[in-house]
Amino acid sequence: MSHRIAVVGSGPAGLAFARVLHRHGCPVTILERDPAPDARPPGGTLDLHEGLGQLALDKAGLLAEFRALSRPEGQAMRILDVDGTVLRDWRPGPDDRAHPEIDRGQLRDLLLGPLGVRWGRDVTRVGPGSRDGVPVHFADGRQETFDLVVGADGAWSRTRPAVSSVTPHYTGVTSVETSLDDVDTGHPDLARLIGDGSVAVYGVNRALVAQRGSGGHVKVYAQFRAPLDWHANLDLADAGAVRSSLLALFDGWAAPVLDLLRHGTAFTHRPLYVLPVSHSWPHVSGVTLLGDAAHLMPPLGAGANLAMLEGAELAESIATGPGDLDGAVRAFEERMWARAGRWAQITTAGLERLVSPDPAEALALFDRVQPS
Ligand SMILES: Cc1cc2nc3c(=O)[nH]c(=O)nc-3n(C[C@H](O)[C@H](O)[C@H](O)COP(=O)(O)OP(=O)(O)OC[C@H]3O[C@@H](n4cnc5c(N)ncnc54)[C@H](O)[C@@H]3O)c2cc1C
Repeated sequence: MSHRIAVVGSGPAGLAFARVLHRHGCPVTILERDPAPDARPPGGTLDLHEGLGQLALDKAGLLAEFRALSRPEGQAMRILDVDGTVLRDWRPGPDDRAHPEIDRGQLRDLLLGPLGVRWGRDVTRVGPGSRDGVPVHFADGRQETFDLVVGADGAWSRTRPAVSSVTPHYTGVTSVETSLDDVDTGHPDLARLIGDGSVAVYGVNRALVAQRGSGGHVKVYAQFRAPLDWHANLDLADAGAVRSSLLALFDGWAAPVLDLLRHGTAFTHRPLYVLPVSHSWPHVSGVTLLGDAAHLMPPLGAGANLAMLEGAELAESIATGPGDLDGAVRAFEERMWARAGRWAQITTAGLERLVSPDPAEALALFDRVQPS
């Protein structure tokens, strides 16, 4: 008899998990709060690493499709001084496929493929489990019971309380995101500044990063150290006011760099929260977590990669194991905690250096990660 397995969330973790189970012919119920796949803008671009996100796609049988869709040239990285001087201009070699970029929307569609998602299923609570299984409670009052509930429901997971009382805390760094459309035709100077991949400018306790997606779409992230209530006297819904406040915060930076903010349309505030490094929990039969729900960490290129690999690995060990569902989950958790703990340390230290009182720290970190 097959197990009743549910995954809460259809982000990179949940979809990788479901897609690998599907590849092995194992049924899985995908519960997603969004009412439809395109209910929200899908977000920017993700770099998927060999041995992490790309390995997950391989386990899902999707690596060739990823290679056709992804942008190896998007690995290019330019670093500028606040006066606009180019400090580093790194470009990938012609065969470099270490971490190509892919639009989040493209990745979601690739993983979704034939999967059937139950859209509009807002999970409010999971458990407690009994001999009948683990109940999942929905906002509309309904309830459904499964043998295994996998919480892949992100930073503010509603599944997490079933295994852990820990909640995310603020890092002290906030991020305001904006975007530019049709950069090549609308803002050719900025297109040249950004190049094929990303441009980053590091100042004292602040950074500005622009990343090119496909179709001339660019995401711009203004990151800075600030108390959570830095915007107490600012209407975050007023794009003009947010833009002015950011331009004041980055005052003195080179005009072409500030144009990244001047031409931004809407602004989204995303304070950076994390779970404690090495977050883990005493094993709870019938419930586990994947991705940001398990180990939310600074957004420095690891989160989606880990989320996908965890989803793929858990699915594979359930599908190919001897049928001991709880044993497969226990073994998976140990592996996830060890790997995610290492990455949480790396990204936490990375955030300290990238948004730092000493901008030379950011350059030194880049030179260590990406030696020329
Ligand atoms: C600006 C930025 C840039 C980043 N860049 C990178 C990068 O280049 N590389 C990288 O590896 N990582 C990157 N990350 C991190 C990455 O986005 C996350 O780690 C990754 O999305 C986590 O995937 P997930 O599936 O665990 O969670 P999520 O992507 O958050 O997905 C969770 C899903 O669960 C659903 N959900 C939530 N609550 C409920 C509920 N109650 N009921 C039902 N469904 C629910 C949500 O709607 C969502 O679909 C970046 C993050 C940010 C903020």
